[in-house]
Amino acid sequence: MYQHNVIESMGPLVGGTTYRNYNGLDFNLSLRAGDTSQSRSNRKDLFHNLSLPLENGVFPQQVHGNEVLQITSTRKDLEEDSSTVSKCDGLMTSEGELVLSIQTADCYPIFIYDPIQKAIALIHAGWRGTAQKITVKTIELLSHTYQSNPEDLIVSIGPGIQSCCYEVSIEFMDHFSAQVLKERNGQFYLDLLKENVLQAQSASVLEDNILTESSLCTACHVDQFYSYRKEGPLSGRMMSFLSLKSGYYSD
Ligand SMILES: [Zn+2]
Repeated sequence: MYQHNVIESMGPLVGGTTYRNYNGLDFNLSLRAGDTSQSRSNRKDLFHNLSLPLENGVFPQQVHGNEVLQITSTRKDLEEDSSTVSKCDGLMTSEGELVLSIQTADCYPIFIYDPIQKAIALIHAGWRGTAQKITVKTIELLSHTYQSNPEDLIVSIGPGIQSCCYEVSIEFMDHFSAQVLKERNGQFYLDLLKENVLQAQSASVLEDNILTESSLCTACHVDQFYSYRKEGPLSGRMMSFLSLKSGYYSD
């Protein structure tokens, strides 16, 4: 049903990214993109599988920006169906009963865990959010909000489109350094994975604490993941989720 992110081995966490199929059927988790006819029941199936109550899920309306919100159990105004939807691309919490989630199809899910302050964050990082340094901003906000020391943080990056497949226009030079824009056969390719690794390092996360083992290229692996670049507007979305295990229970 989902890829267990390597960050799960770093502490009492539940964290992963859904595969595009479950039991041979399409497993779209988006209520807007792709074939949404089964999305609500797919969300129920996912949370049931996780033994977590669906009502504890936090589902932001993503806007490819760099807004990061602190979520508390009294602040659950992020339900996609709610009239008070908050637009953001990063979530953080220290409350074990909440399940942070984001949706992607080529953009990167970035999981962050502070084992000392017991706080977590989950980021939706496409090129726009990354150009606006959402990873740096999230780490700074974790320090500000939970007194996290960046050197304690574990950052793990999930599946997203890699430089093998991510051809971009020359205008991307306005947003990214030559370090992450590679030229091959007269075309430019963006290494969004490396850019986010570099951002985490620039925010003082230790190199050994930045994990990329769970990051396969979505466009190379459309058998396992949705890829907007490969499939276009009809592509569904995977859901990435992260929760501190203290609120983990089975009903
Ligand atoms: Zn690829």
